[in-house]
Amino acid sequence: MPPTSPQRGRRVVLISLYELGRQPFALAEPAAWLRGAGFDVVCVDLSLARLDTSVLSGAALVALHLSMHTATRIAAEAIPRIRDAAPDALLCAYGLYAPMNAKWLSTLGTDAVLGGEMEPGLVRLAEWAAGTREEACPVEPLVSRAKVDFVTPDRSDLPPLDRYAHLILPDGGRSVVGFTEASRGCKHLCRHCPIVPVYEGRFRIVPLEVVLDDIAQQHAAGARHISFGDPDFLNGPTHARRLIGLLRQRFPDLTFDATIKIEHLLAHEGMLAELKEAGCRFITSAVESLEDEVLRHLAKGHTRADFERALALCRAHGLALLPTFVPFTPWTTLESYADLLRALVDLKLVRAVAPVQLSIRLLVPAGSYLLRLEGFGARLDPFDERLLGYPWRHEDPRVDVLQQRVQAWVGEAEAKELPRERVFEGIWRMAHEAIGVQPPSLAGADHGDALPRLSEPWYCCAEPTTSQLTGF
Ligand code: SF4
Repeated sequence: MPPTSPQRGRRVVLISLYELGRQPFALAEPAAWLRGAGFDVVCVDLSLARLDTSVLSGAALVALHLSMHTATRIAAEAIPRIRDAAPDALLCAYGLYAPMNAKWLSTLGTDAVLGGEMEPGLVRLAEWAAGTREEACPVEPLVSRAKVDFVTPDRSDLPPLDRYAHLILPDGGRSVVGFTEASRGCKHLCRHCPIVPVYEGRFRIVPLEVVLDDIAQQHAAGARHISFGDPDFLNGPTHARRLIGLLRQRFPDLTFDATIKIEHLLAHEGMLAELKEAGCRFITSAVESLEDEVLRHLAKGHTRADFERALALCRAHGLALLPTFVPFTPWTTLESYADLLRALVDLKLVRAVAPVQLSIRLLVPAGSYLLRLEGFGARLDPFDERLLGYPWRHEDPRVDVLQQRVQAWVGEAEAKELPRERVFEGIWRMAHEAIGVQPPSLAGADHGDALPRLSEPWYCCAEPTTSQLTGF
């Protein structure tokens, strides 16, 4: 930490590294706070542009948003270069992955780390860094869960929405997508989830008018579909119900998607018709596994039967359900993986699942609640700073080999833009070869309808790929 507060300008540079093709709310919201406090803010999205180091010159504060594991790994390259380009700036890392990697981030050259509800902390750090305060640099809590007064995000200098992920419709139509958040955090405690160590079962509501103003500005910028980035859209069902009612009234031409856990789809079954009526195009749900034992280990709060019931309910209401999975865990067997594939065929979900979802390997980051699971730590290697996680090897090496083969095939197939059913056929063959049986024929199988989806699939608790990153 710089020992005293030198006199610098009032420039703040906010940097996003990678947010799965979403225009980052986590830059736009702090930008609004900081501009409101009189700072000259520059937002840089390194998923769409290379870093022009001249913007760092004279900055008082440079703050990087670490939203996910991929972004945090890119930070390992980005931070030393930023430090070189802005040696006098206060360098801060914030976001979900910052607190749990605080020690490592400081070895790279960051001065401060903020997690959770970070906007007030960012403003205090910026005020100190700009030299308007004489006292020592404020010591901010690593994680703040205090309520903040959300303001309308300022998206004025972020790249236009049509450069981000778009909505792809089954008929090939495309729509510009806006991204917002109606809440942050989560009231659940799933053991593998990176939100849990930061929010510890709490969530914060973004006021309706703030969400609607943000949607209005993105609608005016061309968005015809809104993707809600809330960890779970039904953590606050009353808030969600009011929001979609107002959304329908004010923006009848907008559609939307949201992430909702299976447990909530069942508990709020009565809302499914309202979601459909309000323009919900699809629901993403982190199903993770179809093995009840694995679901118990992850504390997901649902069973395979629950998932099948939620799927049937969504279908009955004309809502597309896009499940996501973490299929490779220490508890996965070759048989259970093949069983997952068979279930996707039987449930006519092959086209509904992004192929990357069938390659994902459980990630155990620092602070993961999985480490609290009895005996689990013994299965892990020591923390690996290169991976930013605890490596693990399956006790059956054939499972690890299969995961690597599936991952390589999915990467190759995506590069060739093969249709999902073709990618699935390759995975199907590999899974059955691994067991040593002839793959049953998929000829005549009903792979289900093509469903609306975003052009960049959502994933979170997984080993990353960096192929879509351009900034570094
Ligand atoms: S996995 Fe989903 S429901 Fe579970 S804690 Fe994370 S955000 Fe909440």
